[in-house]
Amino acid sequence: MLTSTDGEARRGEFHTPHGVVQTPAFMPVGTQGAVKALRHDDLEALGVEIILGNTYHLYLRPGHERIAALGGLHQFIGWDRPILTDSGGYQVFSLADRRTISEEGADFQSHLDGSRHLLTPERAVDIQAHLGADIAMAFDECLAYPATHEAAADSMRRSLRWAVRCRRRFEEVRGGASSGVLATNPGQALFGIIQGGLYQDLRDESAEGTVALGFEGYAIGGLSVGEPNELMYQVTEATTRHLPAEQPRYLMGTGTPLDLVESVARGIDMFDCVMPTRHARNGQLFTSRGRVNIKNAKYADDDGPLDPACGCYTCQRHSRAYLRHLYMAGEMTASALNTLHNLTFYLDTMRGIRDAIAFRNFEIFRQEFVRSASAPSCD
Ligand SMILES: [Zn+2]
Repeated sequence: MLTSTDGEARRGEFHTPHGVVQTPAFMPVGTQGAVKALRHDDLEALGVEIILGNTYHLYLRPGHERIAALGGLHQFIGWDRPILTDSGGYQVFSLADRRTISEEGADFQSHLDGSRHLLTPERAVDIQAHLGADIAMAFDECLAYPATHEAAADSMRRSLRWAVRCRRRFEEVRGGASSGVLATNPGQALFGIIQGGLYQDLRDESAEGTVALGFEGYAIGGLSVGEPNELMYQVTEATTRHLPAEQPRYLMGTGTPLDLVESVARGIDMFDCVMPTRHARNGQLFTSRGRVNIKNAKYADDDGPLDPACGCYTCQRHSRAYLRHLYMAGEMTASALNTLHNLTFYLDTMRGIRDAIAFRNFEIFRQEFVRSASAPSCD
């Protein structure tokens, strides 16, 4: 539901069985049912309203049937706010030489024990029904970048055929017509995914075909795969025009804080990315004055806060010198403190975006953000 718009930027909220999510929203990635280095109460204190879980990992370990028997993913991990699960497709396609793709689905070898598995559109829906996230994703083919028009067209059309199968299976499970599926969240939604590489004619075709299937929301997949930013923005802008105004739009796997602002300007409502959490563990920190590489020797004697403009626990309590020391010593606390800060930066950015849209001054917010993001980094 949209509450206000400013240009193409949209402020809204969507309702799930586990509560409301304010959009535009950023979803921290909790691959194994945990956002690395943080406890759930840290996330709650940061105001995180939705997290993402990875179906591929949870299916292999501890297993979707076990999670369903333990009451579903929310119950199992002890998180009662919304969750989105991906379809597992992205990880399977990343296995490169450990998988083969056919019309039926993807045959792959587990990275854990080498066992073989077949992931089909129906199976991806069933597994996610067991997990019971509030939002499940359609199983699609993830195309390598760069790809020819022909390869991108074939792949996009296969994803569309798979989307039909996902939707059909989802309706069967929801209607109770699928024996053997222990659906743990009757209010689950299913989002379709638009593919087509960087070819706008294919994106148009994919968007029209996907929207015709009637999903609860729509994602743009296959971007943020190494293409120039400007191309990603162009495709995003042209693709969101095909999407129904009233339903959430999710740009998968993006991106830097600047990418979030620029994509909101092109009509996107939801994001996920490992960047803030992974960068935190590598000592790469986002601040209002540019990026900080905390390993840098110049911070060894710096008693100032990481980001004077940040209200997070890390910045309120500790100095750059201490954060550098913990990082250099390989202390686990370094990951926790750094992740807390980077996620605060992302969530504050989203809050700033939402307020700016509500007050109809998003364009000013955006210009200021671009200016500070393109300032030389602190290093
Ligand atoms: Zn901070």
